[in-house]
Amino acid sequence: MTKTLLALAMAAVATSALAYPDKPVTLVVPFAAGGPTDKVARDLAEVLRKGLNNQTVIIENVGGAGGTLGAAKVAKAAPDGYTLLLHHIGMATSPALYRKMPYDTMNDFEFIGMVNEVPMTLIGRSTLPANNYAELVKWLEANKGKINMANAGLGAASHLCGLLFQQALKIDMTTVPYKGTAPAMTDLLGGQVDIMCDQTTNTTTQIEAGKVKAFAVSTPKRLTTPALAKLPTLDESGLKGFNVSIWHGMYAPKGTPKAIVDQVNAAMKAALKDPEFIKRQEALGAVVVTDSRVNGPEHKKFVEAEINKWGPAIKAAGQYAD
Ligand code: ASP
Repeated sequence: MTKTLLALAMAAVATSALAYPDKPVTLVVPFAAGGPTDKVARDLAEVLRKGLNNQTVIIENVGGAGGTLGAAKVAKAAPDGYTLLLHHIGMATSPALYRKMPYDTMNDFEFIGMVNEVPMTLIGRSTLPANNYAELVKWLEANKGKINMANAGLGAASHLCGLLFQQALKIDMTTVPYKGTAPAMTDLLGGQVDIMCDQTTNTTTQIEAGKVKAFAVSTPKRLTTPALAKLPTLDESGLKGFNVSIWHGMYAPKGTPKAIVDQVNAAMKAALKDPEFIKRQEALGAVVVTDSRVNGPEHKKFVEAEINKWGPAIKAAGQYAD
């Protein structure tokens, strides 16, 4: 290619990047609609569009296999900025859980940035004959072999939290996987499963309405959200060192032009400063990220550190899927 042709081609790429987006953008959520990841994505999508030429951000729920199906779909999508991913800690836990991953976490994505951190709550069906954590443990001890614990599949946050909880208590439970914790919550409300560990973004309203029993939070400190403030931590309840706080981040397929990644990052940063978004997240117990992890390169380093942190713990628990 001559120098002139090359300059023309580069100018065309720059112009098309500047015109981005000129049609709706799809944000893939790798879990079922109505669940905690979906709720964060839908709240974010509302404000994200302001920084994306006011184009609609369409949520596509691709649940299954603990979030790996949806993430794989984005890893293989055209790198043109029209398919993005909102995922959670599963980005970092799945590589330790699956013998064969359908994508390479660190190399198949452009990292856009981190969105928020979300604590988890240990909850149970309203008909459980336990009204606090100590009573729950007694009930679990007495019902060994009969307990059903719901989760969103291997690699999901609910799986990680449930796995560490069972390990710490030394009680094996039958895990019941769903495509997300929205359908798991439906079954918990219906009494088909006994307990679940799930993000506050899904559990707060059910706890407030008294539709589920809440026993503890997964973070080392108690929470300040009114509906959750009275809950003890698992750490203070006897599971010393228990600490599972999950996070969400945004990603684009590898090869998405830098100008587009930067534009989505700027739109995301503006969204994270939006008072309405912050208020909605805080009401559900989530903390919007304000530090340097909102930048792609820092978030990438953070995800790598998370892979190194959780991998050994998960492998020690002997959990694998093909
Ligand atoms: N709460 C789910 C999880 O356990 C994800 C979801 O359904 O959004 O990871």
